Amino acid sequence: MSEQVFFIPAHQEEGSQILSQKTEKIFRRLDFTENIDHDSFVALKIHFGEKGNKGYIKPSWLSDTMKVLKERSGRIFFTDTNTLYVGNRSNASDHVLLAHGHGFDERKWGVPVIIADGLIGRNSDDIVIDKPRIHTAKIASLFSDSDVLVCLSHFTGHMLTGFGAAIKNLGMGCASRSGKLDQHSDVHPRVNPKYCDLCQTCFDYCPEEAISEKQGTAFIDSEQCIGCGECLVVCPRGAVKMTWDDDKIRVQEKMAEYAFAVNKVYEGKIVCINFLIHITKDCDCMCKGVPPFMEDIGILASKDPVALDQASADLIDEQSGKDILRIKNDVDWTVQLKHAEDIGLGNRNYRLVKCEL
Ligand code: SF4
Ligand code: SF4
Repeated sequence: MSEQVFFIPAHQEEGSQILSQKTEKIFRRLDFTENIDHDSFVALKIHFGEKGNKGYIKPSWLSDTMKVLKERSGRIFFTDTNTLYVGNRSNASDHVLLAHGHGFDERKWGVPVIIADGLIGRNSDDIVIDKPRIHTAKIASLFSDSDVLVCLSHFTGHMLTGFGAAIKNLGMGCASRSGKLDQHSDVHPRVNPKYCDLCQTCFDYCPEEAISEKQGTAFIDSEQCIGCGECLVVCPRGAVKMTWDDDKIRVQEKMAEYAFAVNKVYEGKIVCINFLIHITKDCDCMCKGVPPFMEDIGILASKDPVALDQASADLIDEQSGKDILRIKNDVDWTVQLKHAEDIGLGNRNYRLVKCEL
């Protein structure tokens, strides 16, 4: 069986109004609003973008979709979980302020921002899934308490998982702090002294103070390291590497199993929208504006996160003429899709339905 994935070509230069109309257009094609009652809690899961980031999904692209949802329920809200790394999204207080600064302002949209795992990421529910790598997933409590989920993902490359989109937004993005730790526990970064110039950038970003100077180079204490992967992303000299390719496989498989847990929580009342706009090598946790590595492609939507991510990656490969995602981060990104399909999260076979405004 192949899943339907709706696709509408779009470019950031078209402006917010057109992007908003296009998002609404494919959202309506999903026939999802029948799942929403007047008192349903509707979670719009999104990444608000780290401070200084430019690539995140802008709330103005969602204004028409918000209107459609608000016609069904008065309980629509934006949400995300706190990060493992030290930054402006590692507690709910800073996180909400950052979201407001990036335009997610309830006075303008009538849609509040609620952080899903509480003030410091401790609000977590155990979801038993009994999968090969994860028996019990730790999901932010808000997701168990809400009724339907609209998963809004900015498609980007990613250092650990090759790319991040719907599966990552569900699996990693909906996990509580302990759930994120669970998924990262197999990541074991090391510093190559040949490339390290002791700039100490990674020292500041490490949430566990696991990095210090030793014999003229940065050194990671493996006892303290929680595997969040932040040092890999922020090192300007590419001196931090993971030790085994197995790390990249395990983290992707765990992430897919966590996404399965979120889908279980909602009993399938999930819809996913991917924005292939301003596609960058790294994710929106980067605290700076990063230029895209290819032209914008458009907006895709599906009820199946696996079909959606497969279709998104295929369009990127097709437009670039090569496996650009693998080349950018040296990661076999197919792992997350294959495993997600194997465990029953969704289907890699899809039927692309092209839409027009
Ligand atoms: S050393 Fe470990 S805990 Fe610190 S930033 Fe790197 S991966 Fe995260
Ligand atoms: S960020 Fe990279 S170059 Fe700078 S101290 Fe850390 S490992 Fe060395």
